[in-house]
Amino acid sequence: MTNPKADQHFPAFMGIPTFLFTPYAQTPAELSESDADVAIIGAPVDMGVVNRPGARFGPRAIRQAAYFGSPSSALYHMGLDVYPLRELNVVDFGDAICPPSSLSQSHDAVRMKVTQALQAGALPVVLGGDHSITLPSATAVAQHYGYGRVGMVHFDAHADTGPSSHGGVLIGHGNPMRRLIESGAIPGKNFVQVGLRGYWPPGDVFDWMREQGMRWHLMSEIESRGFEDVLDDAISEALDGAEYVYLSVDIDVLDPAYAPGTGTPEPGGITSSELLRAVRRIVGAVKLVAVDVVEVSPPYDGPGAITAEAAHRVVLEAISALAHQRSQTEA
Ligand code: MN
Ligand code: MN
Repeated sequence: MTNPKADQHFPAFMGIPTFLFTPYAQTPAELSESDADVAIIGAPVDMGVVNRPGARFGPRAIRQAAYFGSPSSALYHMGLDVYPLRELNVVDFGDAICPPSSLSQSHDAVRMKVTQALQAGALPVVLGGDHSITLPSATAVAQHYGYGRVGMVHFDAHADTGPSSHGGVLIGHGNPMRRLIESGAIPGKNFVQVGLRGYWPPGDVFDWMREQGMRWHLMSEIESRGFEDVLDDAISEALDGAEYVYLSVDIDVLDPAYAPGTGTPEPGGITSSELLRAVRRIVGAVKLVAVDVVEVSPPYDGPGAITAEAAHRVVLEAISALAHQRSQTEA
């Protein structure tokens, strides 16, 4: 169950790359026995994309990003003055077993894996995979905590609320947020989107979003008002009625300069440092129940695997902010 090297000092390029060399739990029983606070779950799925594929390789690329070796308990977040992996027991729960020719079976596998993590008392952190995996993942979280009790903070260039994709396909990476609202898993009024820009979806989809009571913050608003003010609003909107928050980060919210390795890049996005600061603030301000980081497509990544590195740090930032929140509660 545990990585035998977890307590030894060795560099990042050695050993078996679980996320941050955290212990590996292969089965739900092992995860329960590990008493994990956080379960890392890979969702290697990309049959939901409409343009560049490759996100099935995302979980592995994110796991092996970063230059931090072992032991991971030595990792120190200097901005928050916290050792995240001393405060939190993080366990790598491996990947959902996703058959590459079936999106529906893959979604079933993701939903089951996230449910198993929740039943073991661990907060799921899901590494995508294309954004369609937020449908099974957030459905599992809403089933666990209760429909209507979980809000969503969603970073993305795209609203992902299309009624259907090409050919009338209902389940893809352009529709998960619509399906979650239609099913009642996440109420529209508790849905907050940050970083939208570009040319999709069209205006009638925004009309539908308005009818659902959704709130969103375009890049143009971030530019005119400043990110800190927009984040203040996003946090209060996320807490308006919902008890818990699911954080979903589509890496294409970043400008393609920071994240070229993604399926549908949209120029004019936020910077890596803005995203990390936003994740830190939001996680510190809410009761977080799940995170996903999606749409990393390694075959399109730039030199130095910068997209995978950014996604890795987004996960680590969320875990660090959670650790800091816990340390403050205990103090
Ligand atoms: Mn998306
Ligand atoms: Mn997107």
